[in-house]
Amino acid sequence: MNFDISEEQKMIYGYGAELAKTYDRAYWMEHARAHRFPEAMYQQIAADGFLGTMVPEAYGGSGLGMTEMLLFQEGLANQGIPLLSLVIGATMSMGPIAEHGTEQQKQRFLPAACKGELRFCFAITEPDAGTNTIRISTLAKSKADGRFSLSGRKTYITDAGESDYALVVARTTAHTEVKRKTDGFTLFLVDLRAKGIEMHPIPVSVPLPEIQYQVFFDDVDLGPEDVLGEVGKGFNILFESLNPERILGGAICSGVGRYALEKAVAYACERVVFNGPIGAYQALQHPLAKARTEIELASLMARKAAWLFDQGLPCGAEANMAKLAASQAGVNAVDASLQCFGGNGFTQEYGIFDLYPLVRLTKTAPVNNEMILNYIAEHVLGLPRSY
Ligand SMILES: Cc1cc2nc3c(=O)[nH]c(=O)nc-3n(C[C@H](O)[C@H](O)[C@H](O)COP(=O)(O)OP(=O)(O)OC[C@H]3O[C@@H](n4cnc5c(N)ncnc54)[C@H](O)[C@@H]3O)c2cc1C
Repeated sequence: MNFDISEEQKMIYGYGAELAKTYDRAYWMEHARAHRFPEAMYQQIAADGFLGTMVPEAYGGSGLGMTEMLLFQEGLANQGIPLLSLVIGATMSMGPIAEHGTEQQKQRFLPAACKGELRFCFAITEPDAGTNTIRISTLAKSKADGRFSLSGRKTYITDAGESDYALVVARTTAHTEVKRKTDGFTLFLVDLRAKGIEMHPIPVSVPLPEIQYQVFFDDVDLGPEDVLGEVGKGFNILFESLNPERILGGAICSGVGRYALEKAVAYACERVVFNGPIGAYQALQHPLAKARTEIELASLMARKAAWLFDQGLPCGAEANMAKLAASQAGVNAVDASLQCFGGNGFTQEYGIFDLYPLVRLTKTAPVNNEMILNYIAEHVLGLPRSY
């Protein structure tokens, strides 16, 4: 067993620190407060070749794997720079296109997406189905000429208004009419400027540069060339893209948690209110040390999950555990850090409380921790399904 990473992987992990010399947490936060996409930083990431980390070289990418994507995103998060669009676009959308797209789709989308010229969002959540994906009702009806008519609505779609395409999870057969409940799903690459699409922003209280949208599809015309994978068999592709999302959710939380702890340690070593720095008090040290331990454990599990993914081995248990552990560790790290800062932790100047909404969000999205525990209970422990 070897826990070392290669020189190239170290460089990828260290990229965030390099990028932060130009585009730092303050830059990210300024955009997050204004809900404005950090375009200049995104273009720099594209120019440095990281959007296409998991895309084969033949289509403009770097031809690397999930491990490198994880190191890249965790390295950014270590600097307090979490970019959801890198999870949703560069991983959950470009990854499946590279894996399951036709030659024409790969040529059409990937080189431009790697260059930062095309952006993708990922649309699965629906207001009436929520966590119960099986019950989604956005329907792509087959037409006589072999085309499809897409109607339905999606909610909380990150970056939809700023993206060019959405990878839309739809049903081509309603859930009431399928033999197996996972049948009848089809993934579509939908041009967001197409006729019949309307969207409205959902104001959320988490400072994020990406905006969330409700998206309405009304008789949107789609062709067979817009189908990703096979008609009616989209659930497998969907399932494959959920583990990377969980692994990266874990990486982002671990990184943001480390960032919070680093700030706390620097502050606690300087701040004196009685005799000596507050960092000498065990009451402050222990929560920080515990949080750091939890973060490193979660980070290790995320790396294991990424490694398994790259070997083509099942990684559901590890990806779920990594996300669960990291979301809790991230919250604990920010909380411990906040306590060290006293009143200053709540100011915009010190920016510690600002870290909380994002880490807390990851206990609910992209999937709530209860569903993660359900998965572990059922698939790891072998307990009966509870829902
Ligand atoms: C900022 C943000 C960005 C998002 N981005 C995207 C995106 O880009 N694309 C997209 O498709 N979606 C996105 N989402 C949606 C997100 O994935 C869902 O909000 C999340 O999966 C929870 O679904 P829900 O909100 O419908 O909660 P519900 O399904 O209504 O569940 C509510 C609560 O009930 C509990 N619960 C539900 N089912 C069970 C169960 N079986 N057992 C135990 N407890 C249960 C959980 O505690 C859960 O939090 C985003 C959400 C947010 C807030």
